[in-house]
Amino acid sequence: MHEAEPLDAQTGSITTPIYETSTFGFTRADRVPEAVAHSAEKGYVYSRWDNPTVVTLEKKLAAMEHGGDCAAFSSGMAAISTSIFSFLKKGVRVAAIRDLYGGTFALLRDILPDMGFSTDLVDTEDLGALERSVRRNTRIVYIESPTNPTMKLVDIARVARLAHSNGALLMVDNTFASPINQNPIDLGADVVLHSMTKYINGHADLIAGATVGSREHAGKIKMIRRDFGGTLDALPAWLILRGMKTMAVRVRQQNASAMVLAEFLSTHRKVEVVHYPGLKSHPQHQLARKQMKGFGGMLSFVVRGTTKAAMRFTESLKVASLAASLGGVETLVSQPYNMTHTQMTAKERAETGLPETLVRVSVGIEDTDDLVADFRQALAAV
Ligand code: PLP
Repeated sequence: MHEAEPLDAQTGSITTPIYETSTFGFTRADRVPEAVAHSAEKGYVYSRWDNPTVVTLEKKLAAMEHGGDCAAFSSGMAAISTSIFSFLKKGVRVAAIRDLYGGTFALLRDILPDMGFSTDLVDTEDLGALERSVRRNTRIVYIESPTNPTMKLVDIARVARLAHSNGALLMVDNTFASPINQNPIDLGADVVLHSMTKYINGHADLIAGATVGSREHAGKIKMIRRDFGGTLDALPAWLILRGMKTMAVRVRQQNASAMVLAEFLSTHRKVEVVHYPGLKSHPQHQLARKQMKGFGGMLSFVVRGTTKAAMRFTESLKVASLAASLGGVETLVSQPYNMTHTQMTAKERAETGLPETLVRVSVGIEDTDDLVADFRQALAAV
């Protein structure tokens, strides 16, 4: 919570000022070259490069994810695309699991191949397929764990060994777990990605992203960010700094309520299956215990019946809202097939186990009993 934010030396302010400025003036011309060569460390030049409020956020998140440095972006997708492009050059390949956030899936399935980069998207549950797809010229292995929205886990330490033994980097989107529940760098990952729109900010009031890695990797990404231009602005950075300070208590409450809700749903006769890594029935529960510190606030479940039955459920909720996104203090539900995963074809959705009746839940910090009561009455309306 306190990382990177000591009392302000001049004023004693316990919070970081918002440096809402596009550029930084110099009173001595001989200081310019040093600031340009070592932006942020020896002076600030231009806020698309670095900004003091943003740098404070970057230092805090780097510490939380046990990395050397961090680059903050104007969206999670800006962080993901810029980070991937930072390590691509002619002739290299990207290997990834197939269960990915829709935007990342579209980037790897369509955009990169259209530009001439080969990508291998393999069955998430078959690590052997990932092993077979990683070749000598694979530069990046890209995964999410838990996956969105079917809550499959990937053995991060094992995939890190696979990537490294082939000279590739492992990138992990850690958005679903949050830094409170999982630290991929401790498990061998090289680059950790976040949509800060979600748990890190936690209040569903802005869009932002981040990449954490070693000083070398994050530094390289920051240099590319300057020219790709997706840098985060100071004002949202300040809001995120505020949100981050309560992340641990928010996420602990979300973990606890998600567990209660998952248990309630798994005994309900109108629910076919519940996907939550904290349940003993989850096929990878032991892996969850090994690589996660908490099981998270995300779960999904399949409503028994038709698409309409699932729609009736989502419309009948009174505490939770039907909305895309996740990780905020309010409980949100969505049907991924028509909201977050429309980039996938029906066949691709079927292959990853994503039926139209799947409901994804981002558990908020409301009273747990209120949430269970709300889900109970909405299921009764189905
Ligand atoms: N990664 C995951 C797992 C996500 O769920 C999302 C958005 O929902 C993103 C990345 C993209 O983040 P953003 O919407 O901040 O660009």
